[in-house]
Amino acid sequence: MPAHACPGCGSVAPMRFCAACGEEQVHARDLSLRHFAREAAASVTDLDSSLLRSLGSLVARPGLLTCEYVRGSRRRFLPPLKLFLVCNVAFFFLESLTHSSVLTTPLNVYLRFAPFKDVVAAVVAARLAQRHLTAGHYAAVFDPMVRAQAKTLVITMAPMLALAVQALFARSRRFFVEHLVFAVHFYAFFLLLLASVGTVLASVYGSMKVLGAAPAELSDSTLGVVLLASCTAYLYASVRRVYGDGRASAAAKCW
Ligand SMILES: [Zn+2]
Repeated sequence: MPAHACPGCGSVAPMRFCAACGEEQVHARDLSLRHFAREAAASVTDLDSSLLRSLGSLVARPGLLTCEYVRGSRRRFLPPLKLFLVCNVAFFFLESLTHSSVLTTPLNVYLRFAPFKDVVAAVVAARLAQRHLTAGHYAAVFDPMVRAQAKTLVITMAPMLALAVQALFARSRRFFVEHLVFAVHFYAFFLLLLASVGTVLASVYGSMKVLGAAPAELSDSTLGVVLLASCTAYLYASVRRVYGDGRASAAAKCW
């Protein structure tokens, strides 16, 4: 193949792909409809396969994606932030679809169960009287606000975890970004976990309602214990793989 001027960056490209920017040399046949269709099919299946591969590894092999990213094998998987965003979208989509709220605590839960419920109730009653509103109105404003705050919280959690992990593994002398990638992968898994727990709970409640049984309120603490146990197990496995920690040391750091 003769050397040509790269249409992307202008440098001389002796091969099919430009060494400077990666642009591929175009031939007249590349503008055929058949080539276009093949390229379109490839881009869709590529995305699918890397997405599925990333999700599978994220769930089944804790820490592997972080290791692969740091090692430099990045083309086979979605980049950490993209994967996190996909999980984020999946979580909030499933949450709105099933009307579950694993992450958020709507107003009525506050009013009924919170240890400071008397204070909350008094504040809410005062506000309602002041603005001449009903409790339904107040919940309609309060619930979306809590939900929006929960979304912000999820985004800020990853850098916080990264800082904590960096402090724990200060001796490993790694770049901060390595800890950040570790944290982003963990929260991507966390969101998937919440989404599946929320979906399972919603379908269980749904079928109980259909059967006519009174849907028992699953206590927040039971749910909390299940989530905490899964997250600890996952963190333990990830730490072992990414930081190569001994069993006892990894277990200690997970607490
Ligand atoms: Zn180029």
